[in-house]
Order: sequence, then structure tokens, then C-alpha cells
Amino acid sequence: MPLRLYNTLGNKVEEFAPSDDNLVRMYCCGPTVYDYGHIGNFRTFVAVDVLRRHLLQSGRKLRHVMNITDVDDRIIERSAAQHITVRQYTEKFEQAFFDDMALLAIHKPEVIARATDNIPEMARLIEGLAQKGIAYRADDGSYYFRIARFPGYGKLSRKDLAHIEDGARVDSDRFDKEEIRDFALWKAPKPGEARWQTEIGEGRPGWHIECSAMAMKYLGPSFDLHAGGEDLMFPHHENEIAQSEAFTGQTFARFWFHVRFLLVEGQKMSKSVGNFFTVRDLVLKGHKPSSLRFLLAGAPYRKQLNFTFDGLKSASSSVERLRNFKLRLEAPLPPGRNPAMQQLAQDTQRLMAAALDDDLNAAEFSAAIFEMVRQANTAADSGQLFAEDAPPLLAALAQFDHIFDVMEDRDAAFTARVVEWARRERPDVEISEAALQLAASASVGDGEIEKLVAEHVAARKARNFFRSDAIRNELASRNIVLENMKDGTVRWRRK
Ligand code: AMP
Ligand code: ZN
Repeated sequence: MPLRLYNTLGNKVEEFAPSDDNLVRMYCCGPTVYDYGHIGNFRTFVAVDVLRRHLLQSGRKLRHVMNITDVDDRIIERSAAQHITVRQYTEKFEQAFFDDMALLAIHKPEVIARATDNIPEMARLIEGLAQKGIAYRADDGSYYFRIARFPGYGKLSRKDLAHIEDGARVDSDRFDKEEIRDFALWKAPKPGEARWQTEIGEGRPGWHIECSAMAMKYLGPSFDLHAGGEDLMFPHHENEIAQSEAFTGQTFARFWFHVRFLLVEGQKMSKSVGNFFTVRDLVLKGHKPSSLRFLLAGAPYRKQLNFTFDGLKSASSSVERLRNFKLRLEAPLPPGRNPAMQQLAQDTQRLMAAALDDDLNAAEFSAAIFEMVRQANTAADSGQLFAEDAPPLLAALAQFDHIFDVMEDRDAAFTARVVEWARRERPDVEISEAALQLAASASVGDGEIEKLVAEHVAARKARNFFRSDAIRNELASRNIVLENMKDGTVRWRRK
């Protein structure tokens, strides 16, 4: 089945295919690295990761570009206040962003482009626009985009042109503008501010021109898909279209993919309300990275996601359920096969692919695997699951995990890293007992566990229950659970 995606440009679900052979060229607006990312930001990046993984699973090739916005007003202000360079200020948050991406199993795009590494390209684009009379230079050396020269303005967000005024993220500097709705392409430096020397003078780029210049540099004047959170639709993406299309005369991006916002307990996240969470905050409260990944990946991207702690807990038990199911399939099963299980695995694989092809319906996608797990567990409980049923069921599970990526247990190791970071950088932040325990279990190497498990089994055989129980408790305190299998062997796993 072909992939169908909602296209903001045109406001309808359409069949998506790359324009050039089998290679999907896509651009996603990246983070502004002035602070640690919050779970709302990562909702968007996880949704784009689901799209990425589905395209690859469907046999497409990818050239996915993401920018790092490492210059903006806040960054300039904060670095100046700390008497450090812009790069010195941003590098810590850029690294933190990549660490959080890894924590949430978000794959890296093929190309990552820093704004400050591409300033000459931005200046050249502005110069080109000025030569065409679409951009103009103000007395102070700033450049603005002349919206009156781009009749298509508003086509993405379907805004009524007459009512376009400064929105929340519109540049607020209005001096020297011919028209209030014209937006800044280049900002002349104020005294003491960081600046770059370019062929259009000194200053710094506006945020919108950054994405136009880098998208076209790495993907060409016209490409397949452009993504970002819903707040970027206007004015950011509208301005990207205006700058790029006014310059090239070609369609900038054919598909526009917007991810709806994440709310916390029904409210917009805000530091003053106290419902603002970074990924690290949640890990320090004792929540597993895989629970957050599961929660974010399972939410259909076009629906608002209401984040709740109950939801996070239930995501954690869902992951647990899948991991236990996998252990069950990997344990010895009686010889033979059950045709119903073979069929179930096949149907599930088909349902999962169809769910994602249907505008990335991640909820239906995961519902299919849980239905499979339910039916297979019921069969196993009544002795109707056999050795030859395991491979197809495991294949369906692998297809699921290729998108969700929650089966491999990296929770302890990631939590240990966040705990270490908090002790170093945030000694004032409270670390929960649960996080400390999970982190501690990471330091127990597999070899050491195997040794203790073997000792436990030997003690039990020798009917030294005092010793075998002591080992079981010792392991439990490090979050390692022992499971007695029907065939008499003992397996272990991290809780
Ligand atoms: P920023 O670092 O502010 O430039 O944002 C990075 C990405 O996160 C952008 O694509 C935003 O649209 C997105 N974003 C910001 N807040 C939220 C939210 N609450 N829910 C979903 N995405 C968000
Ligand atoms: Zn952008």
C-alpha cells in the first residue's frame, strides 16, 4: 500500500512518494540550543523519527537534513551576559540535545547543519533577494523581506493576508520596515553583540533565512517534505516558503508535515505553572527512557498529546509486557506448530504496515502488536504455542520494534548517565530513589549477574534456600529479577 500523509499545504491527506527515484529528501527544523530541550520538543522529534523509520522500512532511501539553531536573540544575550562566545555557550546544549536524542532512540538525520556554519550561504541568498527587489536594506544595515512582492504569502497557514500581523514568534523589531508585516532577514548588530562579517555587511541572520538557506544547500531548490512542530507553521514556515520560492521560482517543499503540540495534564507547558519537564527531569524522577519513548512514539502525530504521569506509568507496563512476551518466545517451547499462530503473526505484520501507511497511525500500529501478544499469551497458557510459532511471532515483534525501538533494555545505562550528569551539573536537583536504584543496576555487569544466578541455582539444587533467597534478594536490590522457567532453568532480566 502506498503511504498517505496529511499535507498542511493544501489541507488534505495525499499519497506520498519521492519526486526523484526512491530517495526521499526531507528537512526538519531542529532545536534552538539555548537550553535543554523539553518533552514537547522531543514529541516532535520522535514523530519525525517514526516517519523516518517507516520510510526506511518501506524501502525508501533518505536524505534527512536537520538544522541546529545556534544563534538567536536569547543565545546572544545569554552568552554576552556570561562573557563567553556564542559557540562556547551553545556547545553544551547541542551535546545535551544529541544525548537526549540517543536516550529516546531518535536516529540522527543524515545531515546536521549548524546555522553558524552556514552564514555565507544565508548572506548570499539575502543578496540575491535584494537584487530581485524582494528584500531591502534598512538604514541600520538590517535587511527585510518585502511581503508585498510574494503573492503566495499565507498559502501554507491559509491566513487572511489582511490580518497578518506580528505573531508570538514574529520578529518584534519594526524600525525601518516599509510595512509592519515585512520580516527580518538580517539583523544589524547592536553595540557589544556577536556579529558575523559577510558580503552584505556585518550582523546576524534572522531565524527564517537559516532554514531556507540550509534546506536548499543540502536538498536543492525543491524537495519532498518539510517537517516541524505546529507552532512553526506560521510565521516560520510561511516565511521559509516566501524567501525560497521568491528567489527560485520553484516549489520549495511539496509536503508539509506538522506535529501537534504536547500538553501536560491538559495545559500548555510552562515554567511558572510548574508543569515544564525536560527528558532529564523525568529520568531523575525514576521514569525509564523507554517509557517516554513508547508514550511519544505511540501518539498519532496529528492529535494533541496530553502527557500525564498515569500515561507514562501505563507506557512502562506496556514495554514490560512486550519484553516479557519476547522472553517467553525465546524460552524453550514444545515441538510443533499452531496454524492459528502462524496466521496471527502474518495478519499482524500486514495490519502494522497498513496502519503506518495510513498517515502514520501509530496508535493502530501498536494496538495490532498488543492484540497479537494477547492472543499468543492465551494460546501459550493453554499449551497451544509451539516452537515453530516463535520465529514468525518474533518477526512481527521485530517489525514493531523497528519503529518503536523499546525492546532492548538500555534504561539502566541511560539513567546512570543522567544521574551522573545531575550530580555534576545540578547538585540542587533531587534524584529519586527509583532513579538511583535503576542507575545502580547498570553498574552490575552481565558477567557478575550470570555468576550470581549460577550460584543461586546451585544453592537451590543443594536445598540451601537460605543462600538462594539471599542471592535473589541481593539481585532484586539491584533491579535484577529472576524468573523460574518451566524447564527448571532460571532466567534474569533488569526490572
Ligand atoms: P525550538 O527548540 O523551540 O526551536 O523547537 C524545536 C521543535 O520543537 C520545533 O519543531 C517546535 O515546533 C517543537 N515544539 C515546541 N514545543 C512543542 C510542544 N509543546 N509540543 C510539540 N512540539 C513542540
Ligand atoms: Zn526552520
